[in-house]
Amino acid sequence: MEQTILKQERTGFWSRLALWKKILVGMVLGVIAGAVMGPDAEVLKPIGTLFINAIKMLIVPLVFCSLVVGVTSMQDTSKMGRIGLKSVVLYLGTTAVAITIGLALALLFTPGAGLNMTITDPTAANEAPSLVETLLALIPQNPIGAMAAGNILQIIVFALGLGIALTLCGEKAKPAIQLFESLAEGMYKLTEMIMKLAPYGVFGLMAWVAGKYGLEVLLPLIKVIALVYVGCLIHVLVFYTGLISVLGRLNPVRYLKGLINPAAVAYTTTSSSGTLPATIKASREEMGVSQGISSFVLPLGATINMDGTALYQGICAVFVAQAFGIDLAVSDYMLIIMTATLGSIGTAGVPGAGLIMLSLVLTTVGLPLEGLAIVAGIDRILDMARTSVNVCGDLMVSVLIGKSENELDEEVYNRAGSDKA
Ligand code: ASP
Repeated sequence: MEQTILKQERTGFWSRLALWKKILVGMVLGVIAGAVMGPDAEVLKPIGTLFINAIKMLIVPLVFCSLVVGVTSMQDTSKMGRIGLKSVVLYLGTTAVAITIGLALALLFTPGAGLNMTITDPTAANEAPSLVETLLALIPQNPIGAMAAGNILQIIVFALGLGIALTLCGEKAKPAIQLFESLAEGMYKLTEMIMKLAPYGVFGLMAWVAGKYGLEVLLPLIKVIALVYVGCLIHVLVFYTGLISVLGRLNPVRYLKGLINPAAVAYTTTSSSGTLPATIKASREEMGVSQGISSFVLPLGATINMDGTALYQGICAVFVAQAFGIDLAVSDYMLIIMTATLGSIGTAGVPGAGLIMLSLVLTTVGLPLEGLAIVAGIDRILDMARTSVNVCGDLMVSVLIGKSENELDEEVYNRAGSDKA
């Protein structure tokens, strides 16, 4: 009787628990199960494989639909077109820099070295093609074939092309755009449903990993967390402030003071879309960006600008490669940069979206998806930092574009962070 009550309470408690906490519990229980069971914990691995297969199922339709929608959402009237182009160039350019910082940090500090994990799915580690081959193969001869084969870069190229074409068609393409919008919504829902499996998947995979490799597997994760946080700080404190002073000729300290509120909201909510109201408020009231610019540039940024996410993907991709003892060639790094940069357009500004996109990056360079499970347990801690950077990047671009369009009230900007009367 007492047991039944306890069980009922526990069930209620579990279903009320936030997903990230459940994933953390899954990870901890998995590690304990692995430590107790040793190599026998392999019996739990199929639970994790189920989760990984479900994620793989999402990749192609999710990326395709959300990329088409990402592009069609940038409406094209002439001023909007010019501002849109500037924003996209800044957004994607800074994303590429972010992922490079991530890659460099992971290469310097080798968080995955010495883990000696082995690939159990031999098809996962494909021989990566050379850079020239990759560039030549960017255009799919048959987009359906690219989807069937799961060739992510070809799918990205086709989706970008189709999105641009649909936008140019104007009224006539409205129904198709709406179709993609609702398909993308459906895919977001399916992602949400599959992410509910994450705690169990992480449990199964962590049990298997800890059982097979021992508890030393946890130490490198602390290194991954430290590297992601250091990378995020460098990106904001050095790169963004550098752009603000060099390109914008503005005082970077004001920018840093003005971003505190939205960065804090992003850190706690881990959603750049959810933070949007706070970001727009800071951009207008703290930094003096005009309403027109902030209400166009910032929603676009919340959808397509993911510098923190890209930086994290760079670190995690190298971590997984090191953990599995896979040597990455220069062409692989280029592939990671390209995939993460273009993929960021299709990353939703919601909690945990970066983890799904990490599976895209890993798949593209032929790295084993088992690596995802190890990172998934600490994903929330990483998501907090990367979402803050995503939002700081949006703000930085809004300031630069406001300045270049003469739509930045410098008097307001120069008062940012001071108690405005
Ligand atoms: N949570 C991030 C954001 O909303 C996306 C991610 O998971 O990286 O910007």
